[in-house]
Amino acid sequence: MDIYNNEGKSDVIFHDYKCKEALYHLKRKGLPYSFDLNIYRGCSHNCQYCYARKSHKYLNSKDFENDIFVKTNIGEVLEKELKRGRTSGKFINIGGVCDSYQPAEKKYQLMPGILKILIKYKQPVIISTKSDLILRDIELIDQLAHYAWVNIAVTITSDNDGISSKVEPGASLPEARWNILQEFSKTKASTGFHFFPILPFLSDDRISMEKMVKRSSEVKVDYMLSGVLYLSGGIKDRYLSFIKREFPEYYSAYVKLYPRGKANPDYKSKIHSFLGRMREKYGVNAQYSKIIPSYK
Ligand code: SF4
Repeated sequence: MDIYNNEGKSDVIFHDYKCKEALYHLKRKGLPYSFDLNIYRGCSHNCQYCYARKSHKYLNSKDFENDIFVKTNIGEVLEKELKRGRTSGKFINIGGVCDSYQPAEKKYQLMPGILKILIKYKQPVIISTKSDLILRDIELIDQLAHYAWVNIAVTITSDNDGISSKVEPGASLPEARWNILQEFSKTKASTGFHFFPILPFLSDDRISMEKMVKRSSEVKVDYMLSGVLYLSGGIKDRYLSFIKREFPEYYSAYVKLYPRGKANPDYKSKIHSFLGRMREKYGVNAQYSKIIPSYK
């Protein structure tokens, strides 16, 4: 166990442990990938809407952002699984649950080793992140993209630094995230802009949303996905307490918009039809399926 200061914000405790399996086989149909690979459990990006928080209770920890579990032997275990052909060439989603480029990765540097193994086995992957630490590994990722399909998915939820640093305090600021997409557009990897969750009253005004779609076209993303904030289970109470504390002027409107976990359908359809028009205006593809080889 190690104690590490996350850029002066709070003390993060790292728990090193040995995993038995690296890849998690997903049973859900309709996804473009078949396996999840997460090298950390817990995430210091500390997004206020994070749905992965609930998974932490299985580790007897309530502190998702400060109690980080590190699978120190993951490279070794992954290599054994790939060597015996466990994926059969099907896609792995890296960081789909906990970001692989969160601050812990600065200290542990596990991703370069993982990427070298993926290159060796020509394994196709999707890497999702909110951190520009991924640029450290751009050459390795580009190398992998010369052997196998690679997609870099970057989630950006707002164009406003103030909002972003409250909602996702440990992640890179919006401009740094756009820069990831810009830099990867020069590599062989494909890129995706994930505009979700769209945050009611914080990032849903037309001017901001148009700016986001325009920017994604300027950094030449291969596709864009979007989705309105969904507040499931315990996340709803946590997120609404955050709104009450940081943006009290929107609290009652949130309560009205979210009688349950899903936002009011009229609101959602207005957002999606506006974004549809913007994507058409700026020529941004909205279909993941158009760029994924196995879907063609
Ligand atoms: S980056 Fe993902 S896993 Fe990490 S806190 Fe944010 S939503 Fe959760």
